Amino acid sequence: MTERTERPGLLVLAPLAVEARAVRRALPHIRVERTGMGPKRAARAAEAAKGTPAGAVAVAGVCGALDPTLRPGDVVVASEVRGPDRTVAIPGAGLLVAALRRLGIDARLGPMVSVPHLVSRQERAELAATGALAVDMESAWLAPAAGDRPFAVLRVVVDTPDRELKQVLATATGGVTGLRALRTAAPALASWAEAAGSRTVLLASPRSFCAGVERAIEIVERALDRYGPPVYVRKQIVHNVHVVRDLERRGAIFVDALDEVPEEALVVFSAHGVSPQVRHEARERSLKVIDATCPLVTKVHTEAKRFARAGYTIVLVGHEGHEEVEGTTGEAPEAIRLIERADQIDDLDLDGGPVAYLTQTTLAVDEVTDVVEALRDKFPHLTGPGSDDICYATSNRQDAVKVLARESDLMLVIGSGNSSNSKRLVEVSAREGCPAWLVDDETEIDPAWLVGARTVTVTAGASAPEVLVDRVVAALRGLGPVEVQEREVIDENVQFTLPIELRRR
Ligand code: SF4
Repeated sequence: MTERTERPGLLVLAPLAVEARAVRRALPHIRVERTGMGPKRAARAAEAAKGTPAGAVAVAGVCGALDPTLRPGDVVVASEVRGPDRTVAIPGAGLLVAALRRLGIDARLGPMVSVPHLVSRQERAELAATGALAVDMESAWLAPAAGDRPFAVLRVVVDTPDRELKQVLATATGGVTGLRALRTAAPALASWAEAAGSRTVLLASPRSFCAGVERAIEIVERALDRYGPPVYVRKQIVHNVHVVRDLERRGAIFVDALDEVPEEALVVFSAHGVSPQVRHEARERSLKVIDATCPLVTKVHTEAKRFARAGYTIVLVGHEGHEEVEGTTGEAPEAIRLIERADQIDDLDLDGGPVAYLTQTTLAVDEVTDVVEALRDKFPHLTGPGSDDICYATSNRQDAVKVLARESDLMLVIGSGNSSNSKRLVEVSAREGCPAWLVDDETEIDPAWLVGARTVTVTAGASAPEVLVDRVVAALRGLGPVEVQEREVIDENVQFTLPIELRRR
């Protein structure tokens, strides 16, 4: 963790006097320059601003909506600015979205187009068709002011495709909604700018997809290719919102229960496994089933059946309500007692017979060790599984986090809120003394976490795609120079075979 020299402060460029006034009222200690309306004035102002000492530069003002779902007062953050000659990418824009969310503002992130004139209704429709969210007349010409400094564009909608600027200005309250929203949103720019600076980013390895998740996703993809959409999937195939959305776009339909699947349709069981009761229901309804249960979850099911047949009471260590726990419990409901923590052991309802334990595959290794030790204290003849139930992917990712947490100021764990193994990574890091946050993607990284964090480790839970790691690193680069170090703590090379019916493309 090296000391670095930081450049000070934020410079806000606001084209119109009313916009500059709104931002100044919100940010009295920030330098705000009124740059003038339109490309020529913007280009001149950008040239002048290049020499202004500031650690970050932002454009703030109003805009016209292109996306018909935007309403007056909605905040738009530009992911890129498209000008007549070039497009300026803004990789750190997601962090500004997160700062706005902290203020209770649900901003839209997307491309902003800059044009040299007020747009006609026809032109607005044409620009909307390119996928741009909003239009303005300055951002593309103001962007060069940033040079190599972090850059952001925050605009508030005043006119929309069904209520154009002429109509807005003709009313007494024209633009007031937009300017009020601009004043409310402006403090997010200061939070974003405070996080600007250079950093070292350690990429924890292994991270991201495990063999069970890769297999489950490939099963759905191949089923879609082979049988065509729709392919029904019981529960989220893996616990990640991006993976689920992507497969939905390709034709997968995710359901919570089998009664939502039409008779005789194709259904995939998720990586977390199902109970025998669910399999029975699928047979009753003549569903065609492809099973994406991870082989390491199947191993736990097999152990549960074996212990139950041998007359053991099984203490299952896991989280109540988790799909994997529900599936395992369903294999031997009479024999299984679920606990989450050691302090629940004394309340266990046992009949004095032999006791075995099993665990959910995605728990924290250290915590489970403590619970098993406590179980062994109470039941000296306790029997366990042949090999650890906590899977290789869970323990490898935790080991990597443990090592890198000791070198880091901050740990960013990419994963969804319902991903057990991702949440455990956050806890492992915190136990090592490194503050950690779980984020679905870069738009959930609060810039306040990054203030003073010079060494940041980025990891991803076993269900989070690697592309999200790239996006997070790009967002951090948007705040200043980043030195990326790939840090392999454990070599991981596990693969599982696909179900036989899907092996050949
Ligand atoms: S985290 Fe472990 S148990 Fe879960 S799908 Fe991956 S390999 Fe299988």
